[in-house]
Amino acid sequence: MKYASVIVDIASSQVDKVFDYIIPDDIMVSEGFRVLVPFGNRSIEGIVIKISDQTSVVSHKLKSIIKAIDGFSVITEGQFKIAEFLKEKYHIGLADSFRLFLPSQMRSGKVKDLVVTELSLTNEDEAKIYLSKLKSNATAMRGIIEFLLENGTANQAQINKKFSASATNKLAEDKIIVKTEKVVFRSPYKELTDEKKPDVVLTQTQQAIVDKITETPAKYLIHGVTGSGKTEVYMNIIKNVISGGKTAIMLVPEISLTPQVLFNFRSRFGDNVAILHSGLSAGERFDEWKRILMKKANIVVGARSAIFAPLENVGAIIIDEEHDNSYVSESHPRFNTISVAEFMSESFGCSLVLGSATPSLESYHKAITGEYHLLEMKERVNKRPLPPLKIVDMGKEIRDGNNGIFSRELVDALKKTIESGNQAMIFLNRRGYASFLMCKECGWVAKCSDCDVSLVYHRAENALKCHYCGNRFKVFDVCPVCGSASIKQGALGTQKVCEELANLFPDVKVLRMDNDTTQTKDAHLKILTKFKNGEAQILVGTQMIAKGHDFPQVTLVGIIDADVSLHQSSFRAVEKTFQLITQVAGRAGRADKTGEIILQTYAPRHYIYKMAQAYDYMAFYKKESNIREVTLFPPFATIMRILVSGENEKDVVNLTKTYYEKMQALQKDNSKDWVYLGVMKSPIGRIQNKFRYQILVRIKPNIEKTVFDYVYSMLDENKANNVTSFVEINPSNLS
Ligand code: ADP
Ligand code: ZN
Ligand code: ZN
Repeated sequence: MKYASVIVDIASSQVDKVFDYIIPDDIMVSEGFRVLVPFGNRSIEGIVIKISDQTSVVSHKLKSIIKAIDGFSVITEGQFKIAEFLKEKYHIGLADSFRLFLPSQMRSGKVKDLVVTELSLTNEDEAKIYLSKLKSNATAMRGIIEFLLENGTANQAQINKKFSASATNKLAEDKIIVKTEKVVFRSPYKELTDEKKPDVVLTQTQQAIVDKITETPAKYLIHGVTGSGKTEVYMNIIKNVISGGKTAIMLVPEISLTPQVLFNFRSRFGDNVAILHSGLSAGERFDEWKRILMKKANIVVGARSAIFAPLENVGAIIIDEEHDNSYVSESHPRFNTISVAEFMSESFGCSLVLGSATPSLESYHKAITGEYHLLEMKERVNKRPLPPLKIVDMGKEIRDGNNGIFSRELVDALKKTIESGNQAMIFLNRRGYASFLMCKECGWVAKCSDCDVSLVYHRAENALKCHYCGNRFKVFDVCPVCGSASIKQGALGTQKVCEELANLFPDVKVLRMDNDTTQTKDAHLKILTKFKNGEAQILVGTQMIAKGHDFPQVTLVGIIDADVSLHQSSFRAVEKTFQLITQVAGRAGRADKTGEIILQTYAPRHYIYKMAQAYDYMAFYKKESNIREVTLFPPFATIMRILVSGENEKDVVNLTKTYYEKMQALQKDNSKDWVYLGVMKSPIGRIQNKFRYQILVRIKPNIEKTVFDYVYSMLDENKANNVTSFVEINPSNLS
């Protein structure tokens, strides 16, 4: 007798539920198969994780598998390994990993194969005789037969449209044509394959990098300025990987996964490319996934979750704009794509290639300390300099009597741009729209005395709080530095900016791109296309406009309120600001026109603006990593937050207390490697009726593994009804 251990797919179960079932003789299953099994008094889906000759379940309790759902394995060997890694590093259960790996629409059988009916002639000679006997007015029937004589087969839907359905049916009735049902793949962006793009000759820098990565599989970081031709490098690495018989994964941030990028890949690699991202229809995603599994595609291009594509024999994983936030999943299941990719590189022996003009501090640190090989691309392909960046002091504007959103300089520059027939982009930062407190005259911002991160204003308590240590501070009415009472809180919106522009330039067409205007499918693309076609002269937007398309007509980029990201209550605030400014600045003067950036700030002397102005990544890295080293933040320490929540506050508090006491005991064992351990109500104490408490841990990286292991088994062994607990590692946002 054979038994299968099956993970059953129960939503919202926090632990894996593994059950043994008998494999009936007439059912063929192996590891990774999807099966239907009896569960209680219903039947549910599950994944076979093990086949064995024995079981510890007593025989009268054993039930049999009802059926194998697909007839093939839906989880690859590699994916099983990744699932183990996710469990160890992030405490993600196998059931949750499988959900991550499979197209969600596949579960509970919502998506079906797309079946089309194909027509062909039963017998050519008979068809010719039939044709000669047709009445002269039977044009549709004649047309169909002639078409099939010429083309062999045809799609029924198209034939019906071209000729007539009744003619098709009559021919089928007379047995002149036969209908065959056939499963086909829905292919997203099929129209993108039409145009061919010529191959370019790589520059010396590009070629050297491609050669090195092709020859030696390892972990690489490509630090290349905007426009240095990284995409071309990626495509050539992939080309080499494919010709060596292996497969490749190419990740780009969701937001820059534009048809332009897809077009580049499709035109270079054709049907070998499968595309995976959230903009696809359920059917398209299902079919792309199946094409990968069936080895009909050997290159996957996609956003974050494409890292989990069912490819085998992976030769290279490329992560473009590796510093981008979208590679970190901040809701369940929480994981960092780069860590997953590192694991895959080590475990499968494939190359990992991270690329960015502004690598994350953590990645650059790894490159400098030898964990990654550092490769540099210092020049733009067209040898053009990066556009000049002007810093405008908004405090001075106020002192000079200008209370508006736009500085006098930006208004002048906009005027000139419009008059010369060029285009401008106005960028507004809305990420983490935190309510920091800032002096509008001198730029002072309320910060935590212990952590050097911005404090967050909590309206309900009328207090300022540090999200990293829980410190509370009184709200300031006057600036402690300059005594001004112009204390400002929060940021302004894109709509307000557009209104102001309409007042200033009543005749100029302005497009707006933010969360509100991009809710519908492809809205995002439509706005960008309109702008590219010159239907508007100004594009106002949030981070969505920071990446993606090339706009050759853009000569001016205005950054309003740059400080918003600088004063986020995150230890990464300065880093994110530098990255964002560099990205946005990269939008101007890309073609043969010179560009200009105007950056408005209340803190014009802040070092990060000077460094961004000089495009000096190294200066940024040195300064920022020095601060992190002194204050002990990542990569020089690891932050872990255990968040406990539930509707009954007492239960939540009790469980939090249990955890905290255990953590205190653990801390005693090696206290020299502990930077911080604290327990507190979460900065946002209640969400959707659930109370939230948290334990914050900051440790030296060398004891990371010990602490993770300890915490995960602590969570497994100590539970309470209706209380959930989860862990975040190095979170950017604590709320
Ligand atoms: P990055 O990703 O580094 O910002 P891109 O890959 O977008 O830069 O390249 C910038 C521009 O240079 C693109 O228009 C690209 O087609 C072009 N380009 C890249 N490599 C070459 C090359 N070897 N010869 C000519 N043009 C190139
Ligand atoms: Zn002040
Ligand atoms: Zn603090």
